[in-house]
Amino acid sequence: MKRLTFLFWISLGLVSLTLSFLLISDLMVGLIPDQATPILIYRQKYGEDLAIQFSTLAQKGKNQSIQQALDHLLERNADIQSVALVLESGEIMAMAGPHHALWPQPSGGHPTPDHIQIPIFNGDLHLGTLQLRFHSLATGPWAYVLDNSWVRFLALLMVYGLLGYLLYLKRRLCQLDSSSVVPMRVQTAFDVLAEGVVFLDGADRIVLANRAFSLIVDVDPHELLGKTLGSFEWASPDPVNPLIIYPWTTARQKKNLNVDVPLVWKRMGKTMKKFRVNCIPIFGECSHVRGILVSFNDVTELEDTIQKLELSKAELELLAHRDPLTGCCNRRALFEAFEELWERAQHDGTDLVCIMADIDHFKSYNDRFGHAVGDQVIQIVAKGLSTSLRPLDIIGRYGGEEFCILLPGQTCVEGMLVAERLRENIERLASQAIRTTSGQKITMSFGVSAAILGASDHLELVSQADKALYIAKKNGRNRVEQWRVDEAVTGLNQPEKLISYSVS
Ligand code: GH3
Ligand code: MG
Ligand code: MG
Repeated sequence: MKRLTFLFWISLGLVSLTLSFLLISDLMVGLIPDQATPILIYRQKYGEDLAIQFSTLAQKGKNQSIQQALDHLLERNADIQSVALVLESGEIMAMAGPHHALWPQPSGGHPTPDHIQIPIFNGDLHLGTLQLRFHSLATGPWAYVLDNSWVRFLALLMVYGLLGYLLYLKRRLCQLDSSSVVPMRVQTAFDVLAEGVVFLDGADRIVLANRAFSLIVDVDPHELLGKTLGSFEWASPDPVNPLIIYPWTTARQKKNLNVDVPLVWKRMGKTMKKFRVNCIPIFGECSHVRGILVSFNDVTELEDTIQKLELSKAELELLAHRDPLTGCCNRRALFEAFEELWERAQHDGTDLVCIMADIDHFKSYNDRFGHAVGDQVIQIVAKGLSTSLRPLDIIGRYGGEEFCILLPGQTCVEGMLVAERLRENIERLASQAIRTTSGQKITMSFGVSAAILGASDHLELVSQADKALYIAKKNGRNRVEQWRVDEAVTGLNQPEKLISYSVS
């Protein structure tokens, strides 16, 4: 609205200038023709023609004919109101119409376009005067003005000129060359910036764009002027939260800075560009937001690099926690998880089962088929064990061909059943999975213990399971044994090799 008022005043000024120019031209060279003069000339000529006729009649003394001629004249010429032939003595010789009432002249005897008087002569003798009273050219002070076609022309020029200038300016000001508004040194200073910078007017139209921004959107700087910033293909980088309101609109509405807003620019067939956008409102009078300065910081390369680094970080973390041969948890990750599960079980009052598993006579695979085949056996066994567990269970490679399995929330009985199922699976499926070991069955022995059996910490729990495993080996292999309290107390069946459970 403010902009429209501004344009109105400019248009009015231009119309006034145009009118002034026409009027001054008229004063100087008489551009506007005078309407009254030609009428006066015509009426005078007409009166002179009549005077000649009446002087002829008067010379012949045809007074009767003069009166008839005057009556006839009044009847035929609607432009004449009254007419009289006045003798030199002032006596009226003949008259038609209300001449007494109409004749007195406001001009004090000077001829006007409405009062025409022509002298009548008989030779050199002045007989009298023919007085003709015409209808007034104008009635009232404004009638003449309004009746004048030039006045009407000027009035129309004013109205149409005002509208024309208003529409023209409204359209053209949008595309006003910023170089004529923005000093060259300011444009140059903005062009030096690596960030894309645009100035928006009150309707989000671009009034200045630097070179970096024109490169971003791939549009010539001059073609950018007058375009709305939202007409480019901006989008949110987050598909879950699509772009609903442009950051510069938010800055305008809130009358506040809106900084570091992520935005992407997508265009068919072009690589996507990622930006951090800063919007700064520019205030006019009474905290009115006159425009917005928007800067676009291209972070495409930076964000791509961060993304790659995050991926490699995730890969490194995975490597740091996984055993490279089997993909199970390595010993460090196993003990970290074990400690956490133990704490949680203690806190929640739930049970925690620990199973130790070891391949039977593994040395013989290495000896008979080589170390590489031995590795394959370890991999197949690890896969067989992992696929039979719940997602929340943990399996780690404890040592060479020894695995440790943790079952959070399960009782000792449930742990025994799980271990038995694992044992069966390995016996039934592992040998089939590897041909090179044909003829030799792959089996495993299992030792089971649970937190409820009295371990004071997770290290003791794993030690109990390992002792149970030793008993399984001792009792013939390919079997499952549970750790028993009495065995610990009596010291029976203690393993010959005592394992140190330090976290490496
Ligand atoms: P038992 O039934 O008593 O367990 O007999 P075993 O032969 O399996 O005996 P033990 O568990 O002591 O044997 C471990 C052997 O595993 C010793 C070592 O050569 C081999 N080994 C340890 N780590 C690896 C490995 O990563 N790859 C291969 N191929 N062999 C390994
Ligand atoms: Mg073994
Ligand atoms: Mg072993």
